[in-house]
Amino acid sequence: MSTLRFSVVEKAFQAKAHEVALPAERPGEYFAKYVFNREKMFKYLPAKVYERLVDAIDNGAALDRSIADEVAAGMKRWATELGVTHYTHWFQPLTEGTAEKHDAFVEPDGKGGMMEEFSGKLLVQQEPDASSFPNGGIRNTFEARGYSAWDPSSPVFVVDDTLCIPTVFIAYTGESLDYKAPLLKALSAVNKAAVDVCHYFNPEVKKVIAYLGWEQEYFLVDEGLYAARPDLLLTGRTLMGHEASKNQQLEDHYFGAIPSRVAAFMKDLEIKALELGIPVKTRHNEVAPNQFELAPVFEECNLAVDHNMLIMSLMRKVARSHGFRVLLHEKPFKGVNGSGKHNNWSLGTDTGILLMAPGKTAEDNLRFITFIVNALMAVYRHNGLLKASIMSATNAHRLGANEAPPAIISSFLGTQLSRVLDHLEESSDEELVTLGGKHGMKLDIPQIPELLIDNTDRNRTSPFAFTGNRFEFRAVGSEANCASAMIALNAAMAEQLAAFKTEVDALIAGGEEKIPALLQVIRRYIKESKPIRFDGNGYSDEWKEEAARRGLDCETSCPVIFDNYLRPESVAMFEAAGVMTRKELEARNEVKWETYTKKIQIEARVLGDLVMNHVVPVATEYQSKLIDNVYKMKTLFSEDEAAKLSAENIAIIRQIAERTAFIKEHVDAMIDARKVANKIVSEREKAIAYHDTVAPMLEQIRYHIDKLELIVDDRMWTLPKYRELLFIR
Ligand code: ADP
Ligand code: MG
Repeated sequence: MSTLRFSVVEKAFQAKAHEVALPAERPGEYFAKYVFNREKMFKYLPAKVYERLVDAIDNGAALDRSIADEVAAGMKRWATELGVTHYTHWFQPLTEGTAEKHDAFVEPDGKGGMMEEFSGKLLVQQEPDASSFPNGGIRNTFEARGYSAWDPSSPVFVVDDTLCIPTVFIAYTGESLDYKAPLLKALSAVNKAAVDVCHYFNPEVKKVIAYLGWEQEYFLVDEGLYAARPDLLLTGRTLMGHEASKNQQLEDHYFGAIPSRVAAFMKDLEIKALELGIPVKTRHNEVAPNQFELAPVFEECNLAVDHNMLIMSLMRKVARSHGFRVLLHEKPFKGVNGSGKHNNWSLGTDTGILLMAPGKTAEDNLRFITFIVNALMAVYRHNGLLKASIMSATNAHRLGANEAPPAIISSFLGTQLSRVLDHLEESSDEELVTLGGKHGMKLDIPQIPELLIDNTDRNRTSPFAFTGNRFEFRAVGSEANCASAMIALNAAMAEQLAAFKTEVDALIAGGEEKIPALLQVIRRYIKESKPIRFDGNGYSDEWKEEAARRGLDCETSCPVIFDNYLRPESVAMFEAAGVMTRKELEARNEVKWETYTKKIQIEARVLGDLVMNHVVPVATEYQSKLIDNVYKMKTLFSEDEAAKLSAENIAIIRQIAERTAFIKEHVDAMIDARKVANKIVSEREKAIAYHDTVAPMLEQIRYHIDKLELIVDDRMWTLPKYRELLFIR
């Protein structure tokens, strides 16, 4: 009998909510307590230094060494008051997580003692020996010098005893080895391109900011149960487990009352997030049992990305102190919804205008339409690339698997906005003469309601939906670094806006008035980008056929989807926007393929172990008990009677024999398939082999394990079941 399973289930049942001590202050007072924000900069830095630093943050001005020394000194003084003893460059390598190497402030003073030291040099640049981070061959181990450089646009913060300095991570030869460096380049590209386009409407605009508001979905499981599931522990998802008789059919979890153990976790997490300056705001139950969501108020994109990385590590930490483990995997459980990370994206000006929100005047609305239509064009032209930007071995379980969103990128605009675009498209040339002013307004543009947010008009199956003043990119994986999607989206938008400006300027140079010139190009874009607009049911088979007819990328194989990064139009776009070179893109794809292979490889190994160590022994033991019973029946009853009475058990005995035989055979076949794949030299081909030959076997084997779970004596089954993992708090 499986005593471990029963004892962890019992403990999980009895677990009580942990007490969370609320801070004495109100959130407004402890918000950003551990962040070296402007308020602290002002307090801890000399006035002149403060001004130079703010200039660097706002306008990207270079920070010279003398300033850096003074900044470092101020930072250290602030940090020491908080009891900090160490510092680290905090960066985002291509592993999806963050990396840090802590150094103490202390340095030998040369007189046999120690002194505390933190110079500008240490703040601004470091050379972590980073040869073991994924780099796709940009740096071989002989030339292991990459360096991390401070990104002053994201503030320094304190975690425990360590001062964390957000940095970019770059190869000695200049290539980016992380997410942050290309993200900053993409944000700068979209800033420039969008400012240029804004000047058609308002010459005062000096800066355009890309915003990101992420919504983070996650699961919680009891820590004891988690520890008793080697698959969860090693792969982040359950590789086996029959669906519970009840899961999300009753839709009774979504927005339901938050269980007290979870509520305590959330409260604790929120306090710690607010202290780190993460403006968390919304929390609720999600659709699946044990699934929840957390969302902050949107922020400038680079900062929002950092905050999402930070909150994911905070969640892991806080969950443990509440006896939970947080599951950020996109699909931890089969048969219930997976987790995503909706990326709400918009652009706004330094003059305080959200460019994707309609305004009051005709000109405002022409500006609104300009940005919406350019976004549609960017998404249309790069739909395959955008899909690649969110694709991973783990997110592949969610995309296209009959849950939001499908593995085809399309955009939902809602009826109001669709109508406006249709009207513009259908207007005759004569109608497209002037906008506003003395000629009056012949188009519907001024009639766009200021508030387009219409909750009834939402399409939850759409991967890229317009939601009133922003687009919501819903295909991003719950575990992913948001930067990947934001790099592709902002770079594509930058390229698109630049192309738009070139076309409009050419018309103006040819003697056209500004507004008709804008309208002409917009109207053409509306027509051209039409294939990306889709308001129907993204799950349906008809849509898959229709999308293929429209020329949208319908590929479903994860390693093949990555090819989109190397398509000529993607390379041209990234290079033109100054975001990544072909060499960098190639190296990153190597990392993607390699990571894909490794993830499937680990899953295959774990499943093989579970089969041989848990499933087959338990099933066989139960089978022996039944066989024993069948024999004993013969001593009690006549042969005929015994045969009749044992018929059911014999059927189970046979079923167990057949299923275990299938499972064992397929585990062997899976090992052989891995051996074949492992010999392939090309990372791309190897990943494809893993996708085509190894991954499907995981599912086939699982099918029979799950059937065994249903027939084997519950007392013997060693692994916690779905009904225990998903319903205990
Ligand atoms: P829902 O679940 O209804 O989509 P939420 O309120 O949970 O909405 O989350 C919406 C997210 O979008 C929040 O992070 C919010 O701050 C963000 N958001 C709102 N407006 C914008 C905008 N203009 N640009 C970017 N993000 C935005
Ligand atoms: Mg949302």
